[in-house]
Amino acid sequence: MTEPILQVENLVKHFPVKKKSRRAPAQAVQAVSGISFSLAPGETLGLVGESGCGKTTAGRTLLKLTEPTSGKIIFEGRDITDLKPSAMSPLRAQMQIIFQDPYSALNPRQTIGKIISAPFEIQGVEPAEGMKSAVQALMERVGLNPEHYNRYPHEFSGGQRQRIGIARAIALKPRFIVADEPVSALDVSIQAQVINLLEDLQEEEKISMVFIAHDLSVVQHISDRVAVMYLGKMMEIAPTADIYAKPHHPYTTALLSAVPLPDPRTERTRERIILTGDLPSPINPPSGCVFNTRCWKAQDKCRTEVPQLIQLGASQVACHFPEN
Ligand code: ATP
Repeated sequence: MTEPILQVENLVKHFPVKKKSRRAPAQAVQAVSGISFSLAPGETLGLVGESGCGKTTAGRTLLKLTEPTSGKIIFEGRDITDLKPSAMSPLRAQMQIIFQDPYSALNPRQTIGKIISAPFEIQGVEPAEGMKSAVQALMERVGLNPEHYNRYPHEFSGGQRQRIGIARAIALKPRFIVADEPVSALDVSIQAQVINLLEDLQEEEKISMVFIAHDLSVVQHISDRVAVMYLGKMMEIAPTADIYAKPHHPYTTALLSAVPLPDPRTERTRERIILTGDLPSPINPPSGCVFNTRCWKAQDKCRTEVPQLIQLGASQVACHFPEN
């Protein structure tokens, strides 16, 4: 088996909550509560779950843009968990992020040429062909007109701005990218184009990717495997085909039932699972299985015993009473 590019072991990220009084007990937002997975070279892992379940925090912690509370992050065989920012700096070329909102992620006062050349400058890299040619080659690569080198972000559409963000992320040929909801802010008609671009680049360059989305339909096409998170925990990780064909975790089943089906007849007649109640507070998550308060299969065991992630066929699932 090939060595994973990234290994995550029991990763935890808690944000301390400011105490209201000195005597009040210490509390924390348990954004990520012990997730483990590995990523193979060139693999794309889709990370899904509803808003607030900890996907962004997980993605940022993997890249050490947020310091982990505990656990381990091993990148290309090296434990980077406790590396200081100065020691992380040379690794930044290898690990990149693409943001959800391309507009707020781009400096409005800088030209596209300047924005895309920033990674070279930060890392002190002189492209052999000269900076302008290197940047224009990247622009062409992501489907932008290289003649627009001197234009500003506001002169581009949302989809084009996301292409600028992608050009910047791939400039130094990273080995690993976290794409944090890269198409959620775009029109549906543009989403597929940007996903196809990411998929092409990722295949050509053998980049490994964690692709974050709240919607299972967005990640289906691009992911080799899909991981489902709920309240900071990993509920299920499975090869993409398996998770769509036979989901094991009731939460995955619920998420899938919200994905529209292409065939109108099946779409009209199929059963939809509507989750009742709100996402519980991550400051005080339910005991046992964190999903038990919204799960239609929950029994006593689910309220007291935390289910571990166990292997079920090609899938891993954390549920006492898995489906299928
Ligand atoms: P979304 O899709 O809305 O971005 P998400 O699944 O990415 O949601 P996160 O943004 O990771 O979830 O948030 C997980 C939890 O951690 C939320 O309750 C959020 O309010 C909390 N959180 C995130 N960042 C911080 C922070 N810097 N300080 C305190 N709490 C935070």
